[in-house]
Amino acid sequence: MESLFGKTLDELVTTVKEKGLPSFSGKQIADWLYKKSVRDINGITNLSKKAREMLSPEYEIGLYPPSDVQVSSDGTKKYLYRLRSGAYIESVYIPESDRATLCISSQAGCRMGCRFCMTARQGLKANLTSGEILNQIWSLPEKDKLTNVVYMGMGEPMDNIDEVLKSLEILTAGYGAGWSHKRITVSTVGIFPGLEKFLKNSQCRLAISLHSPFDEERRKLIPVQKAFPAKDILKLIVKDEYTQRRISFEYIMFSGVNDSLRHAAALVKLLSGNDIRINLIRFHKIPDNPLSPSDETTMENFKNYLNAKGLLTTIRSSRGEDISAACGMLSGNEK
Ligand code: SF4
Repeated sequence: MESLFGKTLDELVTTVKEKGLPSFSGKQIADWLYKKSVRDINGITNLSKKAREMLSPEYEIGLYPPSDVQVSSDGTKKYLYRLRSGAYIESVYIPESDRATLCISSQAGCRMGCRFCMTARQGLKANLTSGEILNQIWSLPEKDKLTNVVYMGMGEPMDNIDEVLKSLEILTAGYGAGWSHKRITVSTVGIFPGLEKFLKNSQCRLAISLHSPFDEERRKLIPVQKAFPAKDILKLIVKDEYTQRRISFEYIMFSGVNDSLRHAAALVKLLSGNDIRINLIRFHKIPDNPLSPSDETTMENFKNYLNAKGLLTTIRSSRGEDISAACGMLSGNEK
């Protein structure tokens, strides 16, 4: 059975027209899906009974609850969802004093092979549909408290760009959730042509995983650096037409690997002159992996050096480590 949830307005209009129903029924369905969170086709009460009967044999709404939740001592919650394909994904709800962020997945597994990431060990199991991406938001028990969504969970969003763009349209469009683009950040290691498509078609914020200013060292951490070098990514994102949005660089700090003064100075050389922010992220050790986190003093000194050189740099606070919900720890394993 096909899901209605996750279809854009254009797709809903096409669906109803194929059934011989008027175009405006598509807008009516969008209202119920995205503004009223209807869970059953028969709940779309301003659609005629006949229209509902025509849709029901082939379509369902397609929302489904998480199959498990783990709660961290710091209040972070990790939700597990089972996809139709049988694969599992996770999303992480992070409440803070002034905001509540949901970190969502765009793929089950990932084929990018980053050396510091649990998700990478699975390889790619499935691309999420737009409906499966958005279900993580609409089926979140804390949905009404959400202020921000980040596409930083399992998967590389630019490797599933068409479904990601559909989900972003529904989140930001007037017929959908109507969120400001500023509330949404999409994170990437920098895959072309997905990144170009994202920049052309979405105003949402962008976070690039950098992790080293040196090509060869970055390649050891992020193998796709070989095909998509950081300098090419930089060349693309600093184009005038793309600089209206906030762009940040993510930098996970590994002890003795990328946390020296040499690295800090090279970052300044690479990024200075652009309106770019840097987020330093503490690494969370994962099993059977030699990488270890930089200590807090090293991170603090690194941050201070970059700020003194004019690069706006912050250290992202660490959340949910005790339930393996922190950056790079998502595995999607059924408990
Ligand atoms: S860090 Fe992101 S892009 Fe890299 S393997 Fe993990 S999920 Fe994929």
